[in-house]
Amino acid sequence: MDTFNVVSPAGLDRANLNAAKERTYFFWVIALSLLIWTGLAVSIIGLFYAAMFGFFLWLGNGLLVAYLRSEGVKVGEAQLPELAATLRSVCAELGVAAPPALYVIQSGGMLNAFATRHSGRDFVVVYSDLLEALGPASREMRFLLGHEIGHLKSRHILKQTLLAPGMFFPLIGAAYRRSWETSCDRYGTLAAGDVNAAARGLLVLAGGRQHGPALNAASYTAQYSDDRGFFVSLHELTSTYPTLSRRVVDVLALRDGAAPRRAPRHPFAYLLGALIPGGGVGTASPANALVMIVLIGLLAAMAIPAFQKVRQNSESKACYNNQRMLVAALDQYRLENEKGASTWADIVGPDKFVKQMPACPTAGEYSAKYSDDEGYAIECTRHGNHLHPPASQPVPSGR
Ligand SMILES: [Zn+2]
Ligand SMILES: [Zn+2]
Repeated sequence: MDTFNVVSPAGLDRANLNAAKERTYFFWVIALSLLIWTGLAVSIIGLFYAAMFGFFLWLGNGLLVAYLRSEGVKVGEAQLPELAATLRSVCAELGVAAPPALYVIQSGGMLNAFATRHSGRDFVVVYSDLLEALGPASREMRFLLGHEIGHLKSRHILKQTLLAPGMFFPLIGAAYRRSWETSCDRYGTLAAGDVNAAARGLLVLAGGRQHGPALNAASYTAQYSDDRGFFVSLHELTSTYPTLSRRVVDVLALRDGAAPRRAPRHPFAYLLGALIPGGGVGTASPANALVMIVLIGLLAAMAIPAFQKVRQNSESKACYNNQRMLVAALDQYRLENEKGASTWADIVGPDKFVKQMPACPTAGEYSAKYSDDEGYAIECTRHGNHLHPPASQPVPSGR
C-alpha cells in the first residue's frame, strides 16, 4: 500500500522478538503445570484422563489438518504464487529454514489466521476474506504471516498442550496466553518492516476488510486509554488475546522501541478475575471448551478419591464409637446382673444403659460376642470388630 510513510521498527531484531513477560509467565505456568502433572501421575485415574485428553486433542487436530488438506487451497508455485513468495520471504526474514505448509480456507467471512502442527509438520492457515482484505504481497500480509510464524517458532502449539493445566489457572494462564500474542505481533512487525502496516493489519481485524484499512489508528488507540473501567479490565484479564486497541498501541510503540503506555486496570477486576479460570474460557472455541471439560474431569478425578477416603475414615470412626458404647453397656449389665445380656433389649431402652440402639453410618449390623479371656467384642457386618481386630497372623505354635 502506501510506501511513503513506512516506519521501520527500531530496536526490533530476531534475537529479541519474544516479549520479556512471556518468559516470566512461562516459569509460572510451567511450575503450576508440573505440579498438576505430578498429581496426575500419582493418581492412576489421573493418568487415564491425561491419556484421554491427549487422544482427543490428537484426534481433533488430525481432523482439522485433514480438512485443510482436502477443502483448503494449498499455496505453492502453481497456486497463489504471490502469497507463496511472501511466505518464503517472511520465513527468510525471521530465520525459518523450512517454511510451513500454507493453506487458504473460506470461512464465512471471518477475518482470521492461525498456525497449527500435526505429525511433525507445521501449518499456517489464512482465511480467504483476510487474503482479499490484505492482498497476497502487502506489508500487512507480511505482518499476518510473520505473526503466525512467531507462534510456530516459539513452539506455542506444543506448549498449549503440555502447559494446559497451568494455563487453566485464573489470571496467570490468560496473561501467559496474551504474552504469546504480544510476542507474535513483534514477529509480524519485524516481518512487515513497518509499524504502520502492522497497525493497519490489526485495524482490518477490527473494522473489516472494506473500511479497516482506512481507519484512523490514532483515534483507535485512544479507545485503549479512554475507555477504561471495571468491565473492560475484567475482559482484559480473562481474555487470551490482548484487546485489539492495545495491540495497535503496542505495535505503534515499536517505532522507537520505547515501552508502550499502559492504561490502569480496575483493582476489583483482579479480585473477580481470580475466580475465573483461564485457558481461553473467554473465547468460545470448541478446542478450549474441550480442554476445560477435560481439566474439570482431571480435577474431579483427583478430588473424589481424597474425599472418599476422608468420608470412609469418619464413618469407620463413628462405627468404632458405637462399638465402644455397646461394649461399655454390656460390661455394665454383666457387672450389675452377674450374668450376660441375652438380647439388645437388655441394655438398650429409655431407662437402660443406652437410650437408643446406635446405627452404623454405612448400615452395618451389630452382633456381640463374649469370651472369658477378652470380654465383649462387637462385630459390625460392614466394619468388623474395631476393639479386638481378628487375629490375622497364625497363632505361633508351642504357646
Ligand atoms: Zn496469534
Ligand atoms: Zn459399621
